[in-house]
Amino acid sequence: MYKDFPASDRLLKTFTTIAEHIRVATGQPCAALSTRRINGGDINAAFCLEGFAKPYFIKLNRADLLPMFQAEFAGLQAIAATDTVRVPQPLLSGVANGQAYLVLEHIAFGQANRQSWQTLGRQLADLHRQPHAYFGWQRDNTIGSTPQPNHASADWLTFWRDRRLAYQLQLAASNGYRGNLQRLGERLCADLAVFFAGYQPVPSLLHGDLWGGNVAVDRQGVPVIFDPACYYGDRETDLAMTELFGGFAAEFYAAYQAQWPLEEGYAVRKILYNLYHILNHLNLFGGHYLSQAEKMITLLLAELA
Ligand code: ADP
Repeated sequence: MYKDFPASDRLLKTFTTIAEHIRVATGQPCAALSTRRINGGDINAAFCLEGFAKPYFIKLNRADLLPMFQAEFAGLQAIAATDTVRVPQPLLSGVANGQAYLVLEHIAFGQANRQSWQTLGRQLADLHRQPHAYFGWQRDNTIGSTPQPNHASADWLTFWRDRRLAYQLQLAASNGYRGNLQRLGERLCADLAVFFAGYQPVPSLLHGDLWGGNVAVDRQGVPVIFDPACYYGDRETDLAMTELFGGFAAEFYAAYQAQWPLEEGYAVRKILYNLYHILNHLNLFGGHYLSQAEKMITLLLAELA
């Protein structure tokens, strides 16, 4: 969460500066400026800014977090370039009046129906079909506000072990979670190969943070995904995350499977993939995520027996 949220007079100055940046970038005139707060995000303060021909969606955070917004901008660009699934068009990122900002197209959301879920399933499979030469991404980004290292690897097991699980486990150790979690985590990392016997994932362009809070539909029922943490990785990681906090509609899974069926072993790898997000939640929020992470690792270790 954006803890040092500025007082209203400073905020007004920030929005006036951002509006000026938008005016320079787009050449549009700006009428009387107005903003309203949008709730729902975990990390940043979000607003709708009106006064231009179209409304804009703005995120704010501390100035030192600008790279987080730059990476989100690059992720939205990468997904938009595939022409598969709708994302808000990114317009600008920068610093205004001592705060980092991200400006995106504002999308008015509507109600999802069966058709929208079907479309999303099909479109996500199309996004995952975007081929790539390596696992990783052109830059590091963040998952929530946690750094997410993306330097390239030709080998998925190495990537998942070192840049994802071991990275979060190390962070957990530095956050004070040293005992049982680390012992279990070390055993898991040493034996990961078992989960990939007979399975060779290819690098797919991923949303990377695909829980229900990052999916919506526009007023026409067209699905929109936002707030990505993109990289090229195993498509199963996106599917796993859709199931982590409640699951998407059945039509979504049926349409995805019809387009590109999942392979044997997904049901177990799903736990391995969601463990990353639970470790991240432990590092961000603490609390019961410790016992949840330990339970997940214990379940996975039972597969090795
Ligand atoms: P955070 O980075 O803090 O997690 P989100 O990107 O999830 O923030 O955005 C916060 C909320 O704003 C979302 O839950 C969604 O309802 C809304 N939202 C996100 N992007 C847009 C957009 N482009 N247009 C309109 N509303 C949006």
